[in-house]
Amino acid sequence: NEDQFKKVISHAKEYGYVFQSSEIYDGLSAVYDYAQNGAELKKNIRDYWWKAMVQMHDNIVGIDAAIFMHPTTWKASGHVDAFNDPLIDNKDSKKRYRADVLVEDYCAKIENKIEKEVKKAAKRFGDAFNKEEFLNTNGRVLGYQEKINTILKRLGKSLEAEDLADVKLLIEELEIADPLTGSKNWTDVKQFNLMFGTKLGASAESAMDLYLRPETAQGIFVNFLNVQKTGRMKIPFGIAQTGKAFRNEIVARQFIFRMREFEQMEMQFFIKPGTQAKWYEHWKETRLKWHLSLGMGADNYRFHDHEKLAHYADAASDIEFKFPFGFKELEGIHSRTDFDLKAHEEFSGKKLQYFDYEDNASYTPYVLETSIGLDRMFLAVFSNSLCDETLEDGSTRTVLKLPSVLAPVKAAILPLVKKDGLPDIAKQIVEDLKWDFNVTYDEKDAVGRRYRRQDANGTPFCITVDHDTLENNTVTIRYRDTMEQKRVNIDELRDIIKKDVDV
Ligand code: ATP
Repeated sequence: NEDQFKKVISHAKEYGYVFQSSEIYDGLSAVYDYAQNGAELKKNIRDYWWKAMVQMHDNIVGIDAAIFMHPTTWKASGHVDAFNDPLIDNKDSKKRYRADVLVEDYCAKIENKIEKEVKKAAKRFGDAFNKEEFLNTNGRVLGYQEKINTILKRLGKSLEAEDLADVKLLIEELEIADPLTGSKNWTDVKQFNLMFGTKLGASAESAMDLYLRPETAQGIFVNFLNVQKTGRMKIPFGIAQTGKAFRNEIVARQFIFRMREFEQMEMQFFIKPGTQAKWYEHWKETRLKWHLSLGMGADNYRFHDHEKLAHYADAASDIEFKFPFGFKELEGIHSRTDFDLKAHEEFSGKKLQYFDYEDNASYTPYVLETSIGLDRMFLAVFSNSLCDETLEDGSTRTVLKLPSVLAPVKAAILPLVKKDGLPDIAKQIVEDLKWDFNVTYDEKDAVGRRYRRQDANGTPFCITVDHDTLENNTVTIRYRDTMEQKRVNIDELRDIIKKDVDV
């Protein structure tokens, strides 16, 4: 809900995760900077993905292609002609929105209503409550569900030009209002290309019009044959990449969910034509498993299979995550056929074919793609981890329960007091552990306050050095989530932390 989302945004700022870009100049809309903790969390998510996709698969390799690409790339990919968003203006407020997002947000609101009904009924019926049955029989819930289904049917992924009037109609029928002003006075829906243009070259005559890449995928397609040959790759094989992408998004206060400069983590898997259905299922399952491995709750994920498909796809599904503002796309799994490679063959005049020794024949491979936004994943992890807890003594604490493998700082080393040689021992522990983990030293304030600070920062372990340490070389290790404290020998620390943060 909205309050939780506001809390997420202010916590991200207060604890050095995400800042508005160019804040001293009042910021730049939909552009953000990752701060000292945010940069670590983002890097850890990227590494976690890279390890799972590249290191753990002997038939997937990673590349790092340039952001600038030859402009013909974007003609071939279809982005020049078809990478548009449907925009709608409110005539009274003069605010501009993405028409499909307005409808999506409306769906999220209905979903919230359903959830409220479920909660109410669960309370009323107690132990006798059966959620499945309630969802299938309650009239009001069924009415809501029907509305959502109609919308989903009419509003697929690829809003082609002929659908625009239909979208406007839908907005009018549903009586969707401007979220800021409540006005329902809308213009027609128009298409708007999302690519940022720039120029390459010094003189006006020789300068070449370029685009900042709106997706990383094309850097993989144009390198397909180079990688296949130099890596001696055999189909099926994948090429993975992480990197910046740029889209001139029309946004309404969505924090890092929808940015103008963002990072993608994509993998294109090259397969034999005709095997796409099998690989599509394989990658859907594999990617969902990756998400579940972080332990953020299976209920927070769901697939949304597309009925309407983009021009390049023969099947597509999103992994949606339950963000504070409802279920939204986190990752896309797309069966792209040979659309991209064929298009690049046509536009470049170069063959992009694979010779299959088993079949003794050449073909243009089909492609199965997994594409996830790193920033969106960051928001999923961060928002899901942030919670307020009421403790047994009635006090409250804010804790950021980040999966340990992703936490920016793995352990904080705290001397109980700033004297009697305790700081020296604590600093020595930092020196020893920092080779393996990102750790921090903190001696300011009472130890209880330091624990709370580390809880809110997402640090899984606090290690406290006290007077007993001087006697027997033991310290207290405190677990963030359970607040359980144990006495352990200093020599055991590395193994304890390693066991928790290793995947
Ligand atoms: P949406 O419908 O939300 O605009 P999309 O369908 O255009 O997303 P894709 O082109 O499939 O997204 O991109 C793959 C992934 O990249 C998305 O699942 C999302 O996680 C991420 N992504 C796309 N656009 C943005 C953006 N503007 N800011 C942050 N992440 C983005």
